Amino acid sequence: MSYQHQYADGTRIHYPVGKVVCIGRNYAEHAKELDNPVPTEPLLFIKPGSCVVPSEGGFKVPTDRGSVHYETEIAVLLGKSLSTKPSVEEVLDAISGYAPALDLTLRDVQSKLKEKGLPWEIAKSFDGACVIAPFVAASTYSDLTDIPVRLTLNGAVRQDGNSSLMLNPIVPMIQYMAACFSLQAGDVIMTGTPAGVGPLNPGDELVLELPGASRFATTVL
Ligand code: ZN
Repeated sequence: MSYQHQYADGTRIHYPVGKVVCIGRNYAEHAKELDNPVPTEPLLFIKPGSCVVPSEGGFKVPTDRGSVHYETEIAVLLGKSLSTKPSVEEVLDAISGYAPALDLTLRDVQSKLKEKGLPWEIAKSFDGACVIAPFVAASTYSDLTDIPVRLTLNGAVRQDGNSSLMLNPIVPMIQYMAACFSLQAGDVIMTGTPAGVGPLNPGDELVLELPGASRFATTVL
């Protein structure tokens, strides 16, 4: 299914689907569960816009490349460009919305790449590797250090995080990203996954939530 950014009330958002800028190991408990050291500097990687699919109507996962893990994350949509050293106010002004999203990862493939010290793109950027639910308006949250996010998988809560647990909070994270490369309207920031990642299989039923703000059911087709 082709993807376009949209709000939870169905309103289309007319920004192009840009790049998806991700941060790895942004929750200490998650770094620990995969035996990764907690990074001293933000660990960034980018998924191309071509890998984004909507949560609506279900999504597919590759079945021939080892295990596919879900990583449930708070996605931040940008509606303005940011570059060099944006101020806190400029970052806040550039945010258009928030959504629960999945940073899907070919975990076995990634482990092999990691062992060899190679980049992760093959594990992170396959078609369908980023599942994004509709966005709620930026005005939904006045405190970006207190945004809850939750994944329920086949009836059991598997990930229950809050931006309060992020090692790099949302605004400084976006400032850091913009200092590394320009961010543009339509880009999405994936803010890292809390603990509880695990495999997905066809037939799985998921509920993606920003508790209190939005809730979307979807399935692995
Ligand atoms: Zn992730």
